[in-house]
Amino acid sequence: MAIKDGLRPAAAETPEPDLDSNGSSKQGKNIPAPYFGRTARVVADWESVDASETPHEKNKRGELGKPLFNWYFNRTGPDALTRIAFPMSSADRRNTLQNAVARSTKGTVNSQLPQAVESSSPEALSLHIKKVAEHFGANVIGIASVHPSMLYSGDRYPEDGTGSDGRPRGEGTPEAMAEKYPYAICLSTAWDYNMIQAHRHHIGDHAYHFSQARLALVYANVAAYIREMGYEAIQNRVQPMPTALAAGVGELGRNGMLITEKYGARIHLGDPILTNMPLVADKPIDIGVDDFCKVCRKCATTCPTNSISMEDKVVHNGVEKYKINWEQCYRLRAYVSEFWETCLTCVTVCPYTKPRAWWHDLAVQTLIKTPLSLRWLTVRGLKFLDDTFWGTVPKKRVKWVGYDSGIIPVKKKQNAAADGKAGSGSNGHGELPDPKSKVGYYYPLKENTRRFEIMKEREEKAARSK
Ligand code: SF4
Ligand code: SF4
Repeated sequence: MAIKDGLRPAAAETPEPDLDSNGSSKQGKNIPAPYFGRTARVVADWESVDASETPHEKNKRGELGKPLFNWYFNRTGPDALTRIAFPMSSADRRNTLQNAVARSTKGTVNSQLPQAVESSSPEALSLHIKKVAEHFGANVIGIASVHPSMLYSGDRYPEDGTGSDGRPRGEGTPEAMAEKYPYAICLSTAWDYNMIQAHRHHIGDHAYHFSQARLALVYANVAAYIREMGYEAIQNRVQPMPTALAAGVGELGRNGMLITEKYGARIHLGDPILTNMPLVADKPIDIGVDDFCKVCRKCATTCPTNSISMEDKVVHNGVEKYKINWEQCYRLRAYVSEFWETCLTCVTVCPYTKPRAWWHDLAVQTLIKTPLSLRWLTVRGLKFLDDTFWGTVPKKRVKWVGYDSGIIPVKKKQNAAADGKAGSGSNGHGELPDPKSKVGYYYPLKENTRRFEIMKEREEKAARSK
C-alpha cells in the first residue's frame, strides 16, 4: 500500500518488550533522567505520579470537600455556551462533544494490511503525522521520547470509564509501557486571544472549554489515523506536562502552565498519544521563560487565591520548578460557578500570552537570541514595555455575540429585577455600570481568599470539639 508524501509501506515489526517475571522492563531500570529544558530540571529521584491522586480524581472521591464535590457532580452551569462545552456544567452531558468523544468506543489497529505502514524514514513519518495533526486542527505539536517516570502509576477516570480507551487497566508497569510505546505525541489547541481577555466571565469560559472540546476531537482523529496506519495509539497513560516539556511544546512558567512560543500560556495540553509508530523525538525548547519568570511575577501578584509562589523554585518529586498550590486554585471554582467557571488570570496576564503579531514574535526572538548572561537585561526591558502597553491587571471590556464583560453579574436574575436595576440578561448578568466604559467587569476576589483558611480553621475546630 502506498500513501502520499513519499511514505511507503514497509515492514514495521514492533519488538515485544523485554520484560522480567513481574512485567517490568529489564532494560528500563537504569534509563537516564529525561531532559525537560531549563524550567524544570530533574535533580533527584522522580517517581511516576499516581493518576488517582490528581485533582479531579481526588474530587470524585469527595476528598476535597463537599463544595467542590457538588461543583463537579451536582450543578448545572448558568450559561448555555459553557454548558455545551464542559460536560460537568451541562444539564445533559450527552449534549457535549467532549463527553461523546471520551465515551466513544476506540477502534482497533488496522490488521488488514500485511504489515504496518512505515515511512521511508522516522523523520518523514514524524513530519507527516505533524502535518496531519495540523490539518485536524492542532496549533502546537511535539513528539517526546517516553521515559517511564512520565507515565502515570495508577488508573485515571477509574469509576466511569470516561476517557478510557477500552483496554483493561494495569496492563504493564511504567517501564514496560515506555518500552512498548517509545513515543508520545503532544497536541495542543490555543484559546481565542480576544475572548480570554474576558476571563472570569462566560466569554473567557467558553474560549477555554471550546478549545478543550476541539482538542479532544483533534486527539481522537490523530489516534484513529495512527491505528488505521497499522500502529497502536493509546491515551490517558502519560502525564501531559513533562511529556510536553520533553517534546518541546513549551516551557514551564511560574504560573504552572506550559508557555509556548506562539500562543504563550493560552493553550490546552490534553492527553498525549502513546504509540509504537517509529518517530523522531523533538527536543525541549528555550524561549527564555526561565529568565522571564525570575523577574516578572505578574501571575503571582494577580492570582486571586495566592496560589502562585513569589519565591524561587522548589524541588518537588525530584524536579526543581515553580510549584503552584493547585488545591487552593482548584477550590476557587466551587465559589464562583454562579458567575463564571475558570479563573485564567495567570494565563491572561502572562507577557507571553499575546495575539499572534510581528511584534510578539520579535520580542520572543530577541529574548531567544540574547546570550544567557544578558537575558535579565532584555527581560526587564520587555517587562517594562508589557506593563506600559498592556497594564498589570487585564480589565479589557469584551463584547461578543450578545455577551458583554462590562456587565456586572448578579446572583439571581430576579434579584436585579426586584431592586429595579435593569439589564438582567438571559445569561445571569445584571447592571451595566457605564455604557461607554472600555473596562470589563473584574470579579473582585483577593479579599475573599481567606475563606478557605477560615473554612479549614472551622473544620479543625469542629473536629477538635468532637
Ligand atoms: S487560575 Fe486563577 S486562581 Fe488559579 S493559579 Fe491561575 S490566577 Fe491563581
Ligand atoms: S506572568 Fe511572568 S512570572 Fe508568570 S509565568 Fe508569565 S512570565 Fe512567568
